[in-house]
Amino acid sequence: MKFNLAATALLVATKEMAPPAKIFDNLAIVGTAGTSAAVIETSEGLILLDALWPGEIFADMIEYEMRLLGYDPADIRILLVSHGHPDHSGCGRHFIEKYGAVPYMGEIDYHFNKEFCEKAGNPQVVFDFEVDHFINDGDVITLGDTSIKAFFTPGHTPGGFSFIIPVYDQGRPHNAALWGGSAPPPDRAACEQYLQSLAYWRKACIDNGVDAEFTTHPIMNNGIERMNVMRNRIDQVANPFVIGTDAYIRFTGLFEEMVTDAMKKLK
Ligand SMILES: [Zn+2]
Repeated sequence: MKFNLAATALLVATKEMAPPAKIFDNLAIVGTAGTSAAVIETSEGLILLDALWPGEIFADMIEYEMRLLGYDPADIRILLVSHGHPDHSGCGRHFIEKYGAVPYMGEIDYHFNKEFCEKAGNPQVVFDFEVDHFINDGDVITLGDTSIKAFFTPGHTPGGFSFIIPVYDQGRPHNAALWGGSAPPPDRAACEQYLQSLAYWRKACIDNGVDAEFTTHPIMNNGIERMNVMRNRIDQVANPFVIGTDAYIRFTGLFEEMVTDAMKKLK
């Protein structure tokens, strides 16, 4: 068996718990530096966006970090899964069974998850929960006073979604973008689909007045450093996750560059 030390070290390092942070009045980031989840507050309870890797340690991490921020995991009403990779859906069953969270995600990725995990030799992380609500492009997921817009953005996976979430910073409203899948996919057709989705997403962000952002991979966007700013913020300091529309569109150039570069290496 081949052993790739560098890859293994990266995997271990990025699975370390990162200190959680409330980055908006109504949204917090919990999880690891490599992959995070978001907790969204509404007037009718919490939405958990993504559910980290499979394993008790990650479920415990989400709950522990939520409590550090003053949230009760029992208030989770909806589990919203961005895409069918196991680092975003792993603890889904835990939150569904323990707290009655209602799962929402795309149907294509629900099935893709099984195929992906089996191919990767990880049948133990195959989806182990049913999904009540399959989401479609343009759907609005509402809980209490909060409505999240879902956009079908396949490429990273065949059925991933991205979201625009209404957030507040010191009471001021903003629209936060979450691009649902980051790294380039393994084949050319999927890379082309990724770029098409990115173009669609950029237009959606402009049309919907996106002016803030976060990712579920905080190591990709200086997220950890910016979370640190928010944890230690004094009122006069601007929220570093509120960057304006133009800056967000420029930031998505990172994804375009990654995929374009990956395509050059594909035969
Ligand atoms: Zn992924």
